Amino acid sequence: MGVSAPIHPGRSTRAAPTIAQVEPITTARALRGPFDYRLGEELRDEVEIGSMLVVPFGRRQMLGVVIGLGEDSEVPPERLLEPVRALELGVPAELIRLAEWIAAEYCSTFARALGLVLPPGAARRLSGRRRRAVAAPRHTSVGVPSPRPPALSDDQQAVLAPLLEALAGDDARQVLLHGVTGSGKTEIYLRAAAAALERGRGAIVLVPEIALTPQIVSRFIERFGETVAVLHSRLTAGQRYEQWRRLREGEARVCVGPRSAVFAPISGLGLIVLDEEHDSSYKHEGDPRYDAREVAAERASRSGALLLAGSATPRPESSQRMPRLELPRRVDGRPLPPVSVLDMRGSRSGLHPATAAALAKVRDDGGKAIVLLNRRGWSNFLSCRSCGRVWSCPECDVALVLHRAGGYLACHHCGHRESTPSSCPDCDSASVARHGAGTERLAHDLAGVLDDGEFPVFRLDADVLGRGASAQPGALLAEFQAARSGALIGTQMVAKGHDFPDVSLGVVLDADATLRFPDFRAEERTFALIAQLAGRAGRGGDGRVLVQTIAPEARPIRYAARHDSTGFLAEELQRRRALGYPPFGHLIRIVLGAEQASAARRAAEELRERLTVALPRAAAGPPPGLDAGPEEAATRLLGPAALFRLRGRERQVLVVKTRHRREAVAATGEAVTAVAAGRRHSGVTFSVDVDPQ
Ligand SMILES: [Zn+2]
Ligand SMILES: [Zn+2]
Repeated sequence: MGVSAPIHPGRSTRAAPTIAQVEPITTARALRGPFDYRLGEELRDEVEIGSMLVVPFGRRQMLGVVIGLGEDSEVPPERLLEPVRALELGVPAELIRLAEWIAAEYCSTFARALGLVLPPGAARRLSGRRRRAVAAPRHTSVGVPSPRPPALSDDQQAVLAPLLEALAGDDARQVLLHGVTGSGKTEIYLRAAAAALERGRGAIVLVPEIALTPQIVSRFIERFGETVAVLHSRLTAGQRYEQWRRLREGEARVCVGPRSAVFAPISGLGLIVLDEEHDSSYKHEGDPRYDAREVAAERASRSGALLLAGSATPRPESSQRMPRLELPRRVDGRPLPPVSVLDMRGSRSGLHPATAAALAKVRDDGGKAIVLLNRRGWSNFLSCRSCGRVWSCPECDVALVLHRAGGYLACHHCGHRESTPSSCPDCDSASVARHGAGTERLAHDLAGVLDDGEFPVFRLDADVLGRGASAQPGALLAEFQAARSGALIGTQMVAKGHDFPDVSLGVVLDADATLRFPDFRAEERTFALIAQLAGRAGRGGDGRVLVQTIAPEARPIRYAARHDSTGFLAEELQRRRALGYPPFGHLIRIVLGAEQASAARRAAEELRERLTVALPRAAAGPPPGLDAGPEEAATRLLGPAALFRLRGRERQVLVVKTRHRREAVAATGEAVTAVAAGRRHSGVTFSVDVDPQ
């Protein structure tokens, strides 16, 4: 069975369709749909794009989704089969089209992109009930129930007025809400959602991580009650499906969740909120490597909805593209806390004397402090004092990190673990040096100094969370909130969206660590991390922030110390324009992996040759990382260059830098497919990342 008939954009207006083009829902790669099925009388009027059908396939039955409808098929009529039955609920046609867009935009396949929009656990739902007639979701108009919303500040009122105006129309609009931490952005989201509901439309509220932002979820539930569906990673498959069903049937009209909630089956969408729009968790790291912020913009534009992106530290991309509304002051009227930059050059101690003194003072005053160190574990690496051996991962070319409480060394890239050595396997020396400090050691050391029984030290990082249900971030954050005084030590998780009014001291250690990554976003990330943490101190009264660094003059640190995100953005955009980086150009990153370095290299060279021909007006340039200054060429191809070995695979990278995104993505996809098909590259894996983070 094969299909070459054109896929019609919708149901024919002339007659009910007789042929359904069905994409099978399967992980088997060999099964590439769509396949044609004949619709019998009974199904002809019911089936539409997005319907889920149980279809005969060979000797078994499979679940598939209808991606097109038509009247003709190239399959001879006597070989066309009929679906067994249709499931009760299908996917909105709008989401099928969105999946098509994602496949093209992110160099993936339609089948994989469809996987994003199907109901949770779709592949396992073969025994779904026979459906009723396709019920159009109810468009209930929901008023604002019980709790009376708080009065708005003048700033909030000024911001809300144009948003309500935008929500009153049917035109798609985008707005960046640039508001300092504590300026009341959440109340704006709530009012915008209420306005969308009053017009009988739905809303999606995207947040970076539900577990770290319980406050925003509870405020939406408190305000809108039963019409809110919450999607998060701790739901069981059944619970997830139930939330999906409530949204699909129109019982729930507001969906709050992380990036995948952008695919919530809400019809009549009026609003998409992107909270903390700078957060990197909006980028999906599996194929399709979509960016939920871009998908949200596309979906809002297709639905005539308002896209409302909020942040205290907006991305240069958003600030360039979207009209901006500002909330420059905190709702409590208090100023942002003063930030002191502490120069750590030449220091051998982890804590500056001023930091140690400030922490002791918070303890003595019975206050609270947050300390950010963006590095997990006890020590960064171990080395042998006699022969210099460094313990590194057998699968990746990176040093292993000591986790002392667990008694193991771990690779933070592939998860490899081995027990902590008592001696060097190369020279038998028992003298092993531990270098650097991570959150585990910092929390231990600070507890030793500060915890006198009245001042508990809490730790929040991925290792703590890995211990299971007892250490959920929500519970841990609630404990810190309930404590009369104490310190919260952790990785970047402590700088996320939560809100503690009584934290008077914020500390960032090793603030330039993120600057040392060879990535054009390093400055943006460093700025956001410091500015976000700085905004979390002193909400209830006097506060101060200390930033320890060996690069006190670095641009992001200077701007963050002044809380000057507008100044930072202006300079960052200038730099990006000069270098052709987003938003002034697009990047496509192709990583090739193989067991043998030579195999990866050969495939990369061949890919480079093909790309040089295929890319729109391609020009070869220096390898990634070496910037040649202002760009003239519309498209440049950088690399191949070697990356460090990961999970036992030698890697090569090529980067396409272009102003012609669509054409470059298509050309890259074709070139990769062609090279990957070559038998001499059979052991090589290819991964294409459009807009890599
Ligand atoms: Zn040794
Ligand atoms: Zn590893």
